[in-house]
Amino acid sequence: MNINVQEHEFKAEMKQLLNLIIHSLYTHPEVFIRELVSNASDALSKARFRRLTDSEILEPEAELKINIHLDKENKIFTIEDSGIGMSDDDLITQLGTIAKSGTLEFLKKVAEEQKSIDAQLIGQFGVGFYSVFMVTDEITVETRSANQDSKSYRWKSNGEERFTIEEIDQRSRGTKIYFKLKEEHSSYCEDWKVKSILKKYSNFVDFPVTVNNEDINTVSALWHRKKEEIKQDELDEFYKFISNDTNTPLAHLHVSIEGNINFKSLLFIPENAPPTMFQDSKEKSVSLYSKRVFIQDDAKDLLPDYLKFIRGVVDTEDISLNVSREFTQNSPLMNKMKNVLTGKILTWFEELAENDKTKFNTLFKNFGAYLKLGLNQDFTNKSRLIELIRFETSVTGQGNYSSFNDYVNKMSADQTEIYYINADNRDRILRNPNLEYFNKKGIEVIYLFDPVDVFTIPYINDYKGKQLKSIDKSDIDFKDDSAGSDEKLNKDISTALIEKFKQVLGDKVEDVCESVRLVDSPATLVVGKQGFDPQMEKMMQMLDKDYTASKRILEINTSHKIIKNLSLLMGSDSNEHIINDSIETLYDSAMLLEGYLKAPQDFIKRMNNLLEIATTSK
Ligand code: ADP
Repeated sequence: MNINVQEHEFKAEMKQLLNLIIHSLYTHPEVFIRELVSNASDALSKARFRRLTDSEILEPEAELKINIHLDKENKIFTIEDSGIGMSDDDLITQLGTIAKSGTLEFLKKVAEEQKSIDAQLIGQFGVGFYSVFMVTDEITVETRSANQDSKSYRWKSNGEERFTIEEIDQRSRGTKIYFKLKEEHSSYCEDWKVKSILKKYSNFVDFPVTVNNEDINTVSALWHRKKEEIKQDELDEFYKFISNDTNTPLAHLHVSIEGNINFKSLLFIPENAPPTMFQDSKEKSVSLYSKRVFIQDDAKDLLPDYLKFIRGVVDTEDISLNVSREFTQNSPLMNKMKNVLTGKILTWFEELAENDKTKFNTLFKNFGAYLKLGLNQDFTNKSRLIELIRFETSVTGQGNYSSFNDYVNKMSADQTEIYYINADNRDRILRNPNLEYFNKKGIEVIYLFDPVDVFTIPYINDYKGKQLKSIDKSDIDFKDDSAGSDEKLNKDISTALIEKFKQVLGDKVEDVCESVRLVDSPATLVVGKQGFDPQMEKMMQMLDKDYTASKRILEINTSHKIIKNLSLLMGSDSNEHIINDSIETLYDSAMLLEGYLKAPQDFIKRMNNLLEIATTSK
């Protein structure tokens, strides 16, 4: 053996560790590329820093970069950086021992419990370099440290008992690592494969990375640049890259937090809603990075569910590279970041709502349903979410929005409640006779036809001390009881007629009474004081097949021609048939409008009877 070559034996604990890595940690061998690039990137960052602080650094002009060379024929993988390099001491201490105490015990325990350790865990313990032994039997490292008088060394090991170090001819500053891939892992010499792994994990590494001389990481870590220096088209480009969206984003937010927790973040609101809302789609939300190196796609715990439509990246120096899923799911640090991010995002929305209404309306149109769902997910921010929620109303017209605040500001002094109407769709709302009074009196009514509204309105209850009230409820405080333009029936006649209605309809209705709210329609159904509004009942029926909707109160408009005519027909037995059919038909029509009519055949039969009478020439 060359007298230059010194043999070192791995410490017992290191041997066990290597054994574990090689035999148990094979679930994601591809991570070896990320580990190598990340080490190279760290070494380059250190060189960059040293260059700024030490004029004596070796080769101060050397370009800071990472070159990967794939020799397909011989199956040799080589990665080279012009970073800080290692001295012979470094090679022994950094590459020959386990940096953190307890690592071995921990990994052993995991290996026992899970049979095979998820390789995601490796980097957490400062042993990432050894993941290379998953794909090779022998690693060679050639390196020269950045000290002026440094020498160059070669470190070599088969990852079993020993490693060797020898001095070699002077090379340039930095480190070159190469190894022959095991047969079953020879695909890591394929350009396309390595490139796609690099795109996934190392696309935003701060230094140029080349594979066989081709530049790979074209997109820089924009979130580390100063806000003012980032150009719009860079942002657009970046957004498209991370979101797989072909459109430019609606808006972006740059967050930089320093102090107790440290992270930088670049967030985007997509211009368009995803085609399938709320489904567990493959869309990525926010990805987690540590020092520009990709850690996790769609880090579930960085944002509350109702903000999952946001796209972007969060990069923190506070977690180590390669943390496990378990860590990100339970860590107080992630929780803090989530709270800070949520607050920042809500402020961002509030500013958009204030300063750029068009953008905010687009945001709300596409993602408002998410925000509404936030009401029962995020108690801390509930009042902020209520302020952000928008509705169409009887005053705004289609496609325009009002907030609760707008609504309350427009209320007349004597209005004590906030009125809304719920239905499956806008058309059904417009057809509802219960709106007549409000339209006639110019009282604004909030239109709720988004399916999620039934789940969210109950969480609001009141706004600024004003109760939210469905206009389908019977107990509305009508200030004016003469909305209809024509004169009403006199009291005695209407009482008798109402009795007749009750008799005919029997237990189909809870009650029949004279209406104040109707202007143009003869009759309408409302919900008793204790009942749910109709939309809520539909939801209950969806959830529980046996649920029966509560009975309605039928209100009749005693200034309406049909009702007046009916009162005139009363008192003669020969008219009994017409009166009964008319009453049933009025009730069925009201049910039809609400979407509740169960037996259209009976309805049509009665209708035809009445038509026959109407069309009989006198
Ligand atoms: P970690 O990177 O988590 O510390 P590794 O096992 O990946 O753990 O690496 C061990 C150490 O080896 C690093 O901390 C670093 O000091 C040294 N090292 C690895 N790769 C390089 C490199 N390309 N240039 C300089 N030093 C390196």
